[in-house]
Amino acid sequence: MPVLEFSCLEAVIELQCVYMENKTEQDNLYKMRHSAAHLLAMAVLELRPDAKLGIGPVIENGFYYDFDLDSPLTPEDLPALEEKMHGFISQDFSFERRVVTRDEAEQSQVNQPYKQELIRDLPQGEEITVYKSGDFTDLCRGPHVEHSVQISPHFKLTHLAGAYWRGDEKNKMLQRVYGVLFATKEELDSYLAQIEQAKERDHRRLGQELDLFTFSDLVGAGLPLFTPKGTILREKLAEYLSSLQEPLGYEKVWIPHIAKPELYKISGHWDKFHEDLFHVKGKGNEEFVMKPMNCPHHNQIYASKPHSYRDLPIRYAEITTNYRDEPTGELHGLSRVRSLTQDDGHVYCMPNHIMDEVMAIYGIIQNVYKTFDMSLKIRLSLRDPEHKENYLGDDATWDEAESELKKALAQMTEESFIGIGEAAFYGPKLDFLVTDALGRQWQVATIQLDFVQPARFNLTYTDSDGLEKQVVMIHRAIYGSLERFLSILIEHFGGDFPLWLAPVQVAILPISEKVLGYAESVSKQLKEHHIRTWLDTSNESIGKKIRNAETQKIPLMLIVGPKEAESQTISVRERKVGDKGAMAIDELLSQFSFQLPG
Ligand code: ZN
Repeated sequence: MPVLEFSCLEAVIELQCVYMENKTEQDNLYKMRHSAAHLLAMAVLELRPDAKLGIGPVIENGFYYDFDLDSPLTPEDLPALEEKMHGFISQDFSFERRVVTRDEAEQSQVNQPYKQELIRDLPQGEEITVYKSGDFTDLCRGPHVEHSVQISPHFKLTHLAGAYWRGDEKNKMLQRVYGVLFATKEELDSYLAQIEQAKERDHRRLGQELDLFTFSDLVGAGLPLFTPKGTILREKLAEYLSSLQEPLGYEKVWIPHIAKPELYKISGHWDKFHEDLFHVKGKGNEEFVMKPMNCPHHNQIYASKPHSYRDLPIRYAEITTNYRDEPTGELHGLSRVRSLTQDDGHVYCMPNHIMDEVMAIYGIIQNVYKTFDMSLKIRLSLRDPEHKENYLGDDATWDEAESELKKALAQMTEESFIGIGEAAFYGPKLDFLVTDALGRQWQVATIQLDFVQPARFNLTYTDSDGLEKQVVMIHRAIYGSLERFLSILIEHFGGDFPLWLAPVQVAILPISEKVLGYAESVSKQLKEHHIRTWLDTSNESIGKKIRNAETQKIPLMLIVGPKEAESQTISVRERKVGDKGAMAIDELLSQFSFQLPG
């Protein structure tokens, strides 16, 4: 049985940042980061001589080391540790690699129970190496720099965290010290600045400050609840997408959120993913599962009646929530949740439709990401020819599908690259990556060709020659999952949403109670134009009212006083731009675009 994946959009769910560095630089950085981890262990041992050491690997941008400490380190200890590490670098000692026997390895780690455990678990016959730097010997595969002076001094210990020994929550919680290291000061500074900015823009923090979503222990981890303001974001994204895809022939469908296990047994998802499914029991022990994806349901709508070639393509679209039992430790704000809402779409068509349909979806993707001012990059995700056993379908089918997508890609203008082995088990895909305002890359949209589910569900049409033929299926998502897309969008904009998307578009700020009546009439007129307004009726000073509206990141402020009431105008202040002067409401409506992007 081939390895099956979640058929639809699985890759989209994975948090993905893409980093590019050239190979040699990467090797050097690896050695420096790895060696810095050893220096960190040495520094901690000076500060806490009884420290028991866990592991200290290289990670993206840096390294960490785990320690079991009687008295834990505090953030205030980090500068002292850094100073010791700088001291070790200038002492210029060598990193000596030694191949040792199991006994020698154990003797080198006499007071280190975690290291002893690692040694015991090494497979028999495996070469064991230790590295000695100064007085410190660590069980380690390497590689390292030759001399400590070769380690870049452009590093920083960034933070502390708890981590279970060997990642197992049954084990003791150790203390993890994280560090980053770069070849140059510029790279370190720009990385730290980016982290600082990312912290300020963290969607979990902004989500709370701007009152967009919340979590409840009574509901459960990874199950976000959207407030009225957050729900406006979701609805506007949905409306915008509808406005782009409905003219292209997409029709909305609706499906229930549970189904019998048989549905997923036929689609093939059950075999690999039944452990990630939420199970529901009906009366009389009738079994259901919460849906982890939508294609099998949509297929049943297609299969509900016979189709002629004249009906094709048929395009179903639905924004609907899926449920996957992600490990609670991996849940993260909106970016990793257990209820994820996909902007899912399935096109059922004939082989000769593929090109036009793919290009039409591409058009939607281009439109959407231009609107959000995010640049696109495309990955052509192909199957791994060395491991054909991981995929369903014969060579001819794959060749045809891959050549269709290559032809389509040739007409696309964005930078692209090939991902061997990145295909879905049923067919190749085009995956779209965006770069956000902080320069981070995220995988969002996807277009996937599928000849497998139509076969498994016997999805056919009657062709012009009267023969019954198998339909081709295209899976697509433009945002991916709304929750994850919102986490990207909130951080991309730093909460400063464009006017059409902002939960509150206009704050109306009366200077005094005397003009409240006029302010209310302004609010009423705007609401008649479907503009989302908020009238500040508090007794605060106008300065305070302006600051409150600023904190809420409301794009437009209308200040009304006796002068404005007299002349039936409003004084407009645009966030991050400044005063636009007094104008009549009609002028406001013509100067600013409050509705969906056209
Ligand atoms: Zn699908």
